Amino acid sequence: MPVGTLANVKTVTPAQLKDTGAQMVLSNTYHLHLQPGEAIVKGGGGLHKFMGWSGPMLTDSGGFQVFSLSEMRKITEEGVKFRSPHDGQIINLTPERSIEIQNALGADVIMAFDECPPYPATRQEVEAATERTYRWLERCIVAHQRSDQALFGIVQGGVYLDLRSQAAVALAKLDLPGYAIGGVSVGEPAELMAQIVQTTAPLLPPEKPRYLMGVGTYREMAIAIASGVDLFDCVIPTRWARHGTAMVQGDRWNLKNAKFREDFAPLDETCHCYACQNFSRAYISHLVRSQEILAYTLLSIHNITELIRFTQKIREAILSDRFTIEFGHWLTESGTKEQED
Ligand SMILES: [Zn+2]
Repeated sequence: MPVGTLANVKTVTPAQLKDTGAQMVLSNTYHLHLQPGEAIVKGGGGLHKFMGWSGPMLTDSGGFQVFSLSEMRKITEEGVKFRSPHDGQIINLTPERSIEIQNALGADVIMAFDECPPYPATRQEVEAATERTYRWLERCIVAHQRSDQALFGIVQGGVYLDLRSQAAVALAKLDLPGYAIGGVSVGEPAELMAQIVQTTAPLLPPEKPRYLMGVGTYREMAIAIASGVDLFDCVIPTRWARHGTAMVQGDRWNLKNAKFREDFAPLDETCHCYACQNFSRAYISHLVRSQEILAYTLLSIHNITELIRFTQKIREAILSDRFTIEFGHWLTESGTKEQED
């Protein structure tokens, strides 16, 4: 899922997004609650109509942003109080309030309000957050008012594999329409994240969608898919695009690099995207150097297409029983060509 934080995937139109092959878009409850507010989104006919995207949509619960972005927050059993970065007002986000906002926004999939412990955190802190996440999930289920929206539960547990396992088993018993693994990609080492996913994903019902939140890069996705994960969201393709970076067949290129100035080949000869079909590396390099907005649009179109193609190729490989042959190198350390931003 490309990320459309504020009810738009930055620099691309919904029509351009559809052409990348993207099927589902994520939007952020925390950001939309602050601006423009869920009442306006609802007044505009709900998230799909408001932003002109007819495909499936998912909203997160706002929890992750409250825990990671906002200062002056206070966590209690009731919920989280924090100061709005817009107007300084105190906002009280509870499981009930998060679901109420997501019911108003109107995405197809909504997420339970969870407590995402930071990394590092003590076992005691993580255990308390994991247990609270379960109690908050129960409150979310009661608060949820729309049968046309699927409510997914989130497995927390930090880097403690036994806590992850317990949480996954407990959540699976609730027979929710889908499940997510949250609280990863928060600064823990890559190997630890791989272990968390490899431990947790197989414990979630295989017939339900399994979603790894905030991931990923090529390698992270390949590892997670090998463990049974179906859904991802990540800002990387569009964020890197806005930094002038192209993702090309597992690698990343800085288009400001001098070698692209007179390189008239497309970004990727094998890519069918609008950017690769119509423009050269030299042209996009020129746009990036000139800080033209079209640079970010073309790179976003290409990068999203590239990651969607990666998952499409994995799907084809799984169906023809060639996953290990074609993608096994991503599962080992030596297969890592990409670097973290
Ligand atoms: Zn392309």
